[in-house]
Amino acid sequence: MWPTEPGCIAGSIVEDDAKGRGVREAEEHGVMGQMDGIRVVESSAEMRSLSSDLKRHSKTIGFVPTMGFLHEGHMSLMRRAHAMADVTVVSIFVNPTQFGPNEDLDQYPRDLSGDLERAASCGVEIAYVPDVEAMYPEGFQTYVSVTDLSLPLCGASRPGHFRGVATVVAKLFNVVRPDVAVFGRKDYQQLKVIERMVRDLDMGIQIEAGPIVRETDGLAMSSRNSYLSGDERRQATCLVRGMRQAQSLFEKGERSADRLVATARSVIDVEPDAKVDYVEVRDAETLAALTTVGDRAVMALAVFVGTTRLIDNVLLGVDGPLVAKVDV
Ligand code: AMP
Repeated sequence: MWPTEPGCIAGSIVEDDAKGRGVREAEEHGVMGQMDGIRVVESSAEMRSLSSDLKRHSKTIGFVPTMGFLHEGHMSLMRRAHAMADVTVVSIFVNPTQFGPNEDLDQYPRDLSGDLERAASCGVEIAYVPDVEAMYPEGFQTYVSVTDLSLPLCGASRPGHFRGVATVVAKLFNVVRPDVAVFGRKDYQQLKVIERMVRDLDMGIQIEAGPIVRETDGLAMSSRNSYLSGDERRQATCLVRGMRQAQSLFEKGERSADRLVATARSVIDVEPDAKVDYVEVRDAETLAALTTVGDRAVMALAVFVGTTRLIDNVLLGVDGPLVAKVDV
């Protein structure tokens, strides 16, 4: 096992110049008890002291917050963080405050040992895996609310969701204290909420956005895809097919938000198990409603396929073809 003094622990990470070498050497010397060279940290005090030690040694920290059940989408973000910082931290925490009362908190898929292997293969040195009681102890009553950006789209369908997201991300930032944090564009509204929170609260953290990673048939990767039956999985491509249709209409010059939305919906509505929660075209920065699409607009969708709620989005006029994209 690792020595228990924080200075010692982080020292073995930070005293080497080459990224990750400290961890590998610790393994070779038999002091590394965790999987595949990744250190699993459960307590905020320990994470905080690792972070302090890294800072004392002028090492930069790259951070990827996740809810686990990691797939290639998460892995692309971890590789990106690894390329941008000296030490990479991933958090794995299924955050109850961002789930509504009738949502899938209890069923949310989990695979910690697989996650640790996948994270380690992306060069992640530290997995911060706090437990719910430690994150939200009795008496917890402080929340971060990013007001306007949290109202439309998923905020309208999932009241309180972004308050839960902003709160947990603020807490994770306070413990991990990253220099750069990488978020996926898959959760576009979440990305905008986090960017705003960091600016408004002077957090001084660089927020990086990673592209949406898709399966070969275009379905955006998501931990929730594991809920889909075979037939639902086939129908689930209606999101990307609808967006493609709207994108091609946009490229032919269509600028009416309503007509672009109607086009995407017409593809989705024919699938027997697909039920639109929303399909909207909004300003890509403010998420304000649009009637006429200008230079930077996002088409955002949430669709139930069976009981599984899937989200996706495309930046009109910016994104290229919506095909499988696994490279960073
Ligand atoms: P989650 O575990 O779903 O909370 O996601 C953690 C991070 O991974 C978020 O920043 C997501 O936007 C990002 N992410 C999830 N799926 C994808 C994907 N298919 N492509 C890119 N990033 C993703």
